Amino acid sequence: MNHINDNISHILDMMKLACHNANRNDNDVLLLCVSKTKPIADIIEAYNSGQRHFGESYVNEAVDKVNTLKQQGYNDIVWHFIGPIQSNKTKLIANNFDIVESVDRPKILKRLSEQRDPSLGSLDVLLQVNISNEEQKSGVAVNGLDDLIAYAQSLDNIKLRGLMGIAEDTLDKVVIKEQFMLLKSLFDKYKLKLDNFNILSMGMTHDLAQAIECGSTQIRIGTAIFGPRLYHKTV
Ligand SMILES: *Cc1c(COP(=O)(O)O)cnc(C)c1O
Repeated sequence: MNHINDNISHILDMMKLACHNANRNDNDVLLLCVSKTKPIADIIEAYNSGQRHFGESYVNEAVDKVNTLKQQGYNDIVWHFIGPIQSNKTKLIANNFDIVESVDRPKILKRLSEQRDPSLGSLDVLLQVNISNEEQKSGVAVNGLDDLIAYAQSLDNIKLRGLMGIAEDTLDKVVIKEQFMLLKSLFDKYKLKLDNFNILSMGMTHDLAQAIECGSTQIRIGTAIFGPRLYHKTV
């Protein structure tokens, strides 16, 4: 039994249903397969099911996987960095990923722009917004977003593509929807003014229906595709 393939089919069905219920086109919402801590064989299995977008959170582990898969000829994978960013890791992130979704402060933006090899073209970036307003959560505060967007636009090697957010981990669907609607309203405001600003990364396994209803263009799923993570790396 190819369980990764089955899990992906199941998630795609859930996404389709949510799109249908929200009167949206299936193709409007991308599935990002979150493969952090998972072996290359699992990524290849998801690839063989048709998936091309993979998300990683731990830099050293991710860079190994990116390089190994490129050497094996998997050149059409789009690699997303979605984890917390330490400033001593920005060079590796800038040069091994296609898009970075978890940027939340100017220092990191500046380093990514300066350290990106210009021959790779500008780096796609999403700004992570702290929509649940929980102190321990990453993300720029809503009232700091204007300044961070202006700063991102001033940098040569950064292409600002949209926003990312994580709703509070609660069963209260009203709370989840309020937080997603907040992110959607911010996204719409800047989308009117900025070119290429068209990615809204919000929604995980338990809240994907609410996210799609609120306008998400990208859902991030790990455990429901690859199974539970058995170990945790810190970098
Ligand atoms: C790990 C992670 C996910 C996937 O989480 P699962 O619970 O495994 O589906 C999604 N988004 C971000 C930012 C993550 O770090």
